[in-house]
Amino acid sequence: MKIHKEYLSHKFFCRAFLLLFCFCSCLTPKLKSDESLLTHLRYSTHFRLAKGFPFQKPQHKKWETKEYIFHVYSRSFAQGDVVYLELLPQDVLSSFPIKPRLFFNGREMPLSKTVFGYRSFFGIPTTLKPGSYPLQVQLGKPFESISVAQNQSLASSHPTYPGRKDFTITVRKKKFSESKRRIYIRRRKKALSARKLRARHKKIHRFIAEKKKAYSRFTDEIFIRSELAHPLEKHYVTSPFWIKRHVARFQRIGKRTIQLKPRVRIHKGIDLRARTGTPIYSIADGRVVIAKRMVFEGNFVLVEHGQGIFSGYMHLSKINVRKNKKIRSGQLIGYSGATGAVSGAHLHLLLQIRNVPVDPLSLLSLPVRDETDTTQKL
Ligand SMILES: [Zn+2]
Repeated sequence: MKIHKEYLSHKFFCRAFLLLFCFCSCLTPKLKSDESLLTHLRYSTHFRLAKGFPFQKPQHKKWETKEYIFHVYSRSFAQGDVVYLELLPQDVLSSFPIKPRLFFNGREMPLSKTVFGYRSFFGIPTTLKPGSYPLQVQLGKPFESISVAQNQSLASSHPTYPGRKDFTITVRKKKFSESKRRIYIRRRKKALSARKLRARHKKIHRFIAEKKKAYSRFTDEIFIRSELAHPLEKHYVTSPFWIKRHVARFQRIGKRTIQLKPRVRIHKGIDLRARTGTPIYSIADGRVVIAKRMVFEGNFVLVEHGQGIFSGYMHLSKINVRKNKKIRSGQLIGYSGATGAVSGAHLHLLLQIRNVPVDPLSLLSLPVRDETDTTQKL
């Protein structure tokens, strides 16, 4: 009896140990990768990364003046990279007297108010030549454009009111490749009748207008929190960002089909390998602004992240979100597929910042923090 009992308890412990082991091994890989990233980065951003994704630590620039600390981060400050910046008052307890203004290469960039100061995202255009560009911070209006009364009150409470200060960002060259291999977009077996062709064109124009309207949305607030996610569980790029591609073209003349000169197209997103039915996740928090079937995009989901930032997910076989609904980073958007103009199943992921297309995966380097996070950065 005793032996039996011992055997039982031994068996019980074995089982419990096995269960615990399985439980831990299920958790370990994710925790391990997250922990190692956190220690690398020394900030609280949580990255849910895909297997095989080459995570890159961001490059960091820090400038200090008497009034503020300016942190600027980017994966590599290269053409097509996202830039994230924070402007913090030097004295944590104080705030800026007037909303500061920010300019990159002469263009004003929006600043969103947070409890720690201000933050902003902008994209380095792929067309911007490598070299040095001014990044300017202006604390409110310059002296000459504000009234005397305002000027006096500001001057008394902030005697060192500095106006505008110039910093420099050096944009690096990114080698964007060209693929001469022809891409064959899947074609219909039967040609469309003239009536159906007209209806299709009408539809395309309606969708163009709908997309234009969606992309023109702008909010001062940024919805992105300190959690960022890869859209897939496994990372494999099948067509990189901004690659020049040759798309085969055909023309039907009666029963004959002739091949035309290929159309050279720039790829304004990134293609990731994803067999039909692979779960697709949102890369950041936001709000769904388009969730429908379109002609070229197939089943398309467009997510607004605030400040004119949008991420898009194309060619899905199934959409799991609805328009106007809020979405969290890492939340299921739908399943990959081969809908729309494709040569096979994959995910086309795009990221656009105020009409500047950027490499969407360059977002997954940035130490974004919650707008309510008051911890001081290093
Ligand atoms: Zn694509």
